[in-house]
Amino acid sequence: MKKFLSIGILLALLVAGVFAQRGKVVFPIKSGSQTDTSILSRGPIRAALTTGGTTSTSALVDHGGPVINTPTIYLIWYGNWNQTNGSDTPAGQQIIRDWAHSIGGTPHFALNSSYSTTKPISGNVNWGGETTDTGTRTRLTDAQILGVVSSAISSGRLPYNANGIYFVVTSSNVTASSGFCTQYCGWHDSGTVTAGKVRYSFIGNTKRCLTSCAAQSTVSPNNNPGVDGSISVMTHELEEATSDPDLNAWYDSTGAENADKCAWTFGHFQFQTSNGAWANMTFGGRNWLIQRNLWKSGSSWFCMVDSTHN
Ligand SMILES: [Zn+2]
Repeated sequence: MKKFLSIGILLALLVAGVFAQRGKVVFPIKSGSQTDTSILSRGPIRAALTTGGTTSTSALVDHGGPVINTPTIYLIWYGNWNQTNGSDTPAGQQIIRDWAHSIGGTPHFALNSSYSTTKPISGNVNWGGETTDTGTRTRLTDAQILGVVSSAISSGRLPYNANGIYFVVTSSNVTASSGFCTQYCGWHDSGTVTAGKVRYSFIGNTKRCLTSCAAQSTVSPNNNPGVDGSISVMTHELEEATSDPDLNAWYDSTGAENADKCAWTFGHFQFQTSNGAWANMTFGGRNWLIQRNLWKSGSSWFCMVDSTHN
């Protein structure tokens, strides 16, 4: 399993050697300053978010397992997405739906195509469909999260697809007991349901912990800081689940997958949207703030927004 950790927890876990284990891998929560004054010369009123470095990073290594050439996204809305809190709303769902419909084929997602020509990743993404699980649990165990996926497939609400990535997207009144907001911001894993192997991901609404799991907590590109925060986490998990779906393909000598190596960095081409939020890319008719991802150029590896913007 792969969990997207906060920055603080990531550093702690790196020190502790947690990534040496090939269990669930997480996306860390963030910590420390999220501002970078080097971008002030571009003229914004306030500092941009962390840009990240431009020098090459240590290499990803192919450990021989499969990649998903072209993943198919399925969304499972868990909890109550019809609240009056301005985030767990149909409009919030539409932001995520628009992302899922349009992330494939973008210059950003194309970064994943640079790793190998013999085990290709197309850079495209299919839209598979969505279902709602109005489960009333507010604290899901890892096993229950797999159960949510299993139930959606076994009931026929979603098809079984060996190239699918099933996202369990929880409303902000729901947490994951293995550490959402305290240990990680999201994760992906490979599991088994009756129909076969499934690749799936836990994504919480970062409204629950904006300071730990969202880069911007007051304004955001789509006027929903919780969901906009979750979008960067989802992109991170999608890219890892594509390049390392069974946790035995692309990761580095410390166990970090592609997006882990670029976590919480947003590049040097940030711009402000009309509400003052920072964004770094535009697709699907919306602006987005999405962390950088790893790109291979020759034999070197860089964190990039897309192949021409670092
Ligand atoms: Zn990760």
